[in-house]
Amino acid sequence: MSQIRVRYAPSPTGYIHIGNLRTALYNYLFAKHTGGKFILRIEDTDQARKVEGAVDNLINTMEWAGFEYDEGPGRGGDFGPYYQSERLDIYKKHCDILLEKRKAYYCFCTAERLTALREEQQKQKLPQTKYDKHCLHLSEEEVNSNLAAGMPHVIRLNVEQGDVIRFHDFIRGEVEFMSELVDDQILMKSDGFPTYHLANVVDDHLMKISHVIRGEEWLPSTPKHVLLYRAFGWELPTFAHLPLLLNADRSKLSKRQGDVAVEDYRKKGYLTEALINFIALLGWTAGDDKEFYYLPELISEFTLERVNKSGAVFDIEKLNWLNEQHLRAKYDSEIAAMLREELKNSKYAGQEYPDDFLINVVKVMKERVSFVREFYEKAFYFFEEPTSYEEASVKKGWKEQSPAILRVFEEKIKNIETVSKEDYETALKETASEMGVGNGAVIHPLRLATSGVSGGPGIFDICFIIGKEKTLQRIDRAISVLK
Ligand code: GLU
Repeated sequence: MSQIRVRYAPSPTGYIHIGNLRTALYNYLFAKHTGGKFILRIEDTDQARKVEGAVDNLINTMEWAGFEYDEGPGRGGDFGPYYQSERLDIYKKHCDILLEKRKAYYCFCTAERLTALREEQQKQKLPQTKYDKHCLHLSEEEVNSNLAAGMPHVIRLNVEQGDVIRFHDFIRGEVEFMSELVDDQILMKSDGFPTYHLANVVDDHLMKISHVIRGEEWLPSTPKHVLLYRAFGWELPTFAHLPLLLNADRSKLSKRQGDVAVEDYRKKGYLTEALINFIALLGWTAGDDKEFYYLPELISEFTLERVNKSGAVFDIEKLNWLNEQHLRAKYDSEIAAMLREELKNSKYAGQEYPDDFLINVVKVMKERVSFVREFYEKAFYFFEEPTSYEEASVKKGWKEQSPAILRVFEEKIKNIETVSKEDYETALKETASEMGVGNGAVIHPLRLATSGVSGGPGIFDICFIIGKEKTLQRIDRAISVLK
């Protein structure tokens, strides 16, 4: 078998849809699993949809995801250029070949004529509106004189009627389309730019792409592509159309029901590993119950045979769960470094936090958070003094005797130079027994004083992490506010 070569061929339209990231991932996994080549090709021939910075965003996303491509922008390769906008002469040359072979023809129809035609067909309730081949019947003289007069024109593929277009899809099996349903698609637009269909097929052929792996939304385009391969006399690649991504109600994944852009999830603080893991499972399983994967494991386990046909539901709960799992699987020091970065973009920016302080926060909070930012959102009391006290907890846990109890506790730790976690525990127990109360009568007010809330990690952990000085200050403040 000739070498496996696959491509991710995004159009730089500004943002990257989750579905596109999955296409990139599956192509990447398939290439790496089989020892093939993974190519990045930028499909930027649609002038109207060009967005500033979109290509940089794409390349940056590939780097962020860890999908190293073998050929493509910035990396070169034997089949470049990898920007379609730099290959216009190639498309023109190939369009000329089709004109020569009479597989394609010039069309001079005006926008008005096409609109009228469409409206007429709609009125007749035809199953589909399509071009009526009007210009196919122009004489050679007419065509030449129109061209000489500089008349605006497009070039269309001549789709023969009464034909059945068949191809094999790796995931969906045999696929059949009636050629009656295929329009004489435009190959070259009036601005001299190729359409997606022409550029995509020419490039897949010239770049020796062996497998075209892309989303199911491209399936209706495939018969057009098959006709183009036939018209050129080229061998078909293997097609593999990935299942649709669905919302929980099984409607097509759309912006209306939640975020669909990769950037949105990055901004929300999802870990790269978690998002990649999650996306890998949108349409693929290894066939067992395993759900937690790192990229290298996905590479070794991924096969196209195990990609499903049916739509894949985007389950945000599962993504959140995976984020939690991936976060917990990291070393504390790594999480602490991530926390330090996130703090720089928080209201705590500019504050100094020693490594061991952050690591201690991570240690006690790790099992209680799903996102890095929750370390300072949920456990804000490690980063700032509580300025208010949860009302319900005050009612329940702050008693008339509480100030006196806390004073005793304060005295005990004041005399210890460096207070260990165990020292806090001893001080607490001694306080309780001296005051003739249960441990709870010390713990609840102490927790309120130091954190302002009732939940969270162990009280000795809190005191130890904020340190003796802050523990004492906070007790004093609580006593003066709550009395
Ligand atoms: N440029 C198309 C896109 O934006 C490529 C589709 C294909 O893979 O053929 O997804």
